[in-house]
Amino acid sequence: MDINAPVETIKNVGEKRKELLNKVGIYTVRDLIEYIPRDYADRSKLTPLCDVEEGEEYTVRAKIGHKIEVMPKGRVTLVRGTIKDKTGEAVVVWFNQRYLKNTFDTSKEYFFTGTFERKFGRLTLTSPDFEMVREGEAINAGRIVPVYHLTKNLNQKLLRKLIYDCLESIESEIKEFLPKSIMKEYGLCGRVYALKNIHFPETNEAFFTARRRLVFEELLILQLRLLNIKKSIKKQYTGLSFSFFETERIIDRFPFKLTSGQEEALDEIIGDMAENHPMNRLIQGDVGSGKTAIAQVCAYIAYINGAQTAVMAPTDVLATQHYKSFSELFAGTGVRVVLLKGSMPAKEKREVKKLIAEGEAHIAIGTHALIQEGVSFKELGLVVTDEQHRFGVNQRKLLTAKGDYPHTLIMSATPIPRTLGLILYGDLDITTITTMPAGRKKIDTSFVDSSYRERIYNFIYKHVKQGRQAYIVCPVIEENDKTELQSVKKYFDSLKGTPLREVRVAMVHGKMKSDRKQAVMDSFAAGDIDVLVATTVIEVGINVANANIMLIENAERYGLSQLHQLRGRVGRGEYQSYCILISDKKEKEARERLKTMVKSADGFELSEKDLELRGPGEFFGAKQHGLPELKIANLYKDMDILKEVRECAEHISSLSEGEYELILKRIGEIYGFANENVTF
Ligand code: ADP
Ligand code: MG
Repeated sequence: MDINAPVETIKNVGEKRKELLNKVGIYTVRDLIEYIPRDYADRSKLTPLCDVEEGEEYTVRAKIGHKIEVMPKGRVTLVRGTIKDKTGEAVVVWFNQRYLKNTFDTSKEYFFTGTFERKFGRLTLTSPDFEMVREGEAINAGRIVPVYHLTKNLNQKLLRKLIYDCLESIESEIKEFLPKSIMKEYGLCGRVYALKNIHFPETNEAFFTARRRLVFEELLILQLRLLNIKKSIKKQYTGLSFSFFETERIIDRFPFKLTSGQEEALDEIIGDMAENHPMNRLIQGDVGSGKTAIAQVCAYIAYINGAQTAVMAPTDVLATQHYKSFSELFAGTGVRVVLLKGSMPAKEKREVKKLIAEGEAHIAIGTHALIQEGVSFKELGLVVTDEQHRFGVNQRKLLTAKGDYPHTLIMSATPIPRTLGLILYGDLDITTITTMPAGRKKIDTSFVDSSYRERIYNFIYKHVKQGRQAYIVCPVIEENDKTELQSVKKYFDSLKGTPLREVRVAMVHGKMKSDRKQAVMDSFAAGDIDVLVATTVIEVGINVANANIMLIENAERYGLSQLHQLRGRVGRGEYQSYCILISDKKEKEARERLKTMVKSADGFELSEKDLELRGPGEFFGAKQHGLPELKIANLYKDMDILKEVRECAEHISSLSEGEYELILKRIGEIYGFANENVTF
């Protein structure tokens, strides 16, 4: 059997089963044997019938006592018999499974697994799992059995049997691709052993050995793939190596002095852009560390070297904000900045695109989608991506491969735990800014319950009267009977009964039309609105230095990283700022999370804590970080393995090509490219 063959080529898999398997993502034989159990049931322990107690699940090894009877009872058909071993006897019943009458061979032993009850004074086992005892070939009982994610009409028993048989017949096709020396050094078992024991562990120990191998392998492949992207970008030739770096002219225009962190970042970037292969650098820096200023200097460098810059923002609102800040900075310098927005009339869009294509525009700002789709540049030299969430690895590759391999600068707004950063950003060079602009005051953060609301409104009122502005964040837009969450619309109305009725309040949320949203944001930025009630649309990047209060309702709803982003909307100017978290949730985990916010102002620390408290499922929920789906590794629990993998990947890249040929092949199978001239 070919491991890459479609799953329907397996014996006993017809059209119907094929469709069921496809539904859970199994298309090939390989998919099937790599379908990792979500859990296990320990059915290795057999219990004599005389020791069975009510209400517990047991596996017993027994024979069918006497003939099975089928008894129609109203609308159901009862199938009933007895089972017995040397020590005792029990009644066994099933419903509506008439065919079972002729299933059992009374001379044979079976494993039965199920929960026993006492009915009419007799020990009774209802609808047990069963399997005939065949020496050395137990699948559903008498061993640790796998439990898989299912879909309707696909049952454990069928899946177990298919995988079991498949593992038997495919064994010779399962190729080891790790060099012996590596397996030895990291104490990894072979692939065949690993796959067999991840499905049907011989012992607990065997399971752990198998899992370790597969986790290691999965993370290693991911890590090597990222390294390989990094290397292949480094090998590209770009005709855009820059040679002029007179940046004073633009830096002098900033109303501030660059921080040492910003200067160091610029030095690294300048080093990259002077090379004749493309820069591929990520700037990680906490909210407010001043990443935009760095991008602006870089765009200027591109300009004096005769190249254009594309600045990609995650939303229209942010693109507009960048556009304003770039236009102001470059006013009167001869650098022409243009904005490309989804909501612009087609004619205007066409005109802007023309300016870009003819090289009249030097800096083009827009959303990711807009700039990636059909905009052609005359001489694109630098792509700046302001990322809300991380792009998928392959997606990024597509982008850099477009055109003449421009330099790429990625600004990440989401701090990632350092250890994870190593693997998530394995394809990039990383600069981390650890300084903050001088004079920033710590944002005073508090966590209260809703009984404080009235007092908070007075607090906001007082600040508004002194000329400041405030944000209030609610989790949902509209009221919903099912939840008790604060909704933007209702909240907005309810403020009419509070001291805030006397100030200018507006709302903004994701269901509003783009230009309407923009208009509200603009008036808030201009100071024509005092209090903005919003959903998390205001989460990223919004920069209004006069706003100094961030009130977050139902704060338990958010992860630490997100709360930190929201909090980062204030404290951007000279005023003492406040972040107030409201939550009535009593749950320990939620309270601990919110208390952490009060204690820490460090985005990296918070992201580590977030991962720890919520686990990777939540942390990486909604594909936030564009991480490829992992089948078995758990990025939090397997942190130790991750560290070993890092080291191992370095080791592998120092081997000769012949030694890692098989690994390359494996990477190709997973990421869908056939040896596209890759090395490490
Ligand atoms: P982020 O890194 O979160 O994108 P921004 O680039 O939006 O941060 O900068 C936040 C604010 O800090 C802006 O108002 C910006 O003008 C200001 N800023 C940037 N660099 C400095 C600096 N070196 N000194 C003082 N203020 C600065
Ligand atoms: Mg920013």
